[in-house]
Amino acid sequence: MKAIEIFKSYYPKLTESLESKLPDFLITADNVEVIPWQDDFAVADKNPEALDQIEFWNTLLDGGLITEEEWKKETDKIFKKYGYCSKTMGVAFIDERKVSFRKAIPDKFVLVHEIGHIHFAEIDLFWSASYGGGEILFWLALEHNYEINDAQIRRFMSMMRKAYEGNHLEVAEEIVKACHPLWGEQIVPAFYPICLGTGWMPSGITYEIDPFDLTNPDWLKVEPKKEDVLNFFQNLTAGLQYSDTFWINYSKRLGFLK
Ligand SMILES: [Zn+2]
Repeated sequence: MKAIEIFKSYYPKLTESLESKLPDFLITADNVEVIPWQDDFAVADKNPEALDQIEFWNTLLDGGLITEEEWKKETDKIFKKYGYCSKTMGVAFIDERKVSFRKAIPDKFVLVHEIGHIHFAEIDLFWSASYGGGEILFWLALEHNYEINDAQIRRFMSMMRKAYEGNHLEVAEEIVKACHPLWGEQIVPAFYPICLGTGWMPSGITYEIDPFDLTNPDWLKVEPKKEDVLNFFQNLTAGLQYSDTFWINYSKRLGFLK
């Protein structure tokens, strides 16, 4: 079975908005084979039975069979007993263009996540929403009024990758070049003032320069730390989710948003 069939049969609304906003994604889904689930695909499982139990209580709550208080009491017990838990709901084989799902009808987020691995040929570090990756832009394109297309999601992930792979100074320079014109004389053209201007305090600043003095030329001598350049992208997607004007403007200037 091709993955497109799951989209069309179970998620017609999602399919419709993909058709208008990210049509190439459906072309990929049409070329990806869904193969049967095998137990050894569950590589990242950790106490998956805890999640099964939580799902059971969720069903009772949804059906109005228990109160929210009872639900909280029961699920708290499970969290206390198991601590961390996760369950692999899908896998993607990027080179083979195959996916597999634990449930016959995967959740739409699981479906998009696995097809996305193949469509963008990216690993979780740059794609997964859990790591602040391109998946967030993908859902913002579909569910917000943002005009984000395929090429823009790819550009976002490739800048993240470039920063991760050690060229973070080059990426920081690109960020400054693109975003500084928004401020003009208000701040010096350096990475940290660009971050501080949004109200975000990166962990790498040393306070030798007053973080509220964004016109101090000493900022030009401060080398951006790799984790701060990477966190810039996470702050950007968080900012977009809250419709923050600064981050919307930065995204437009960096070519992630129309
Ligand atoms: Zn993944």
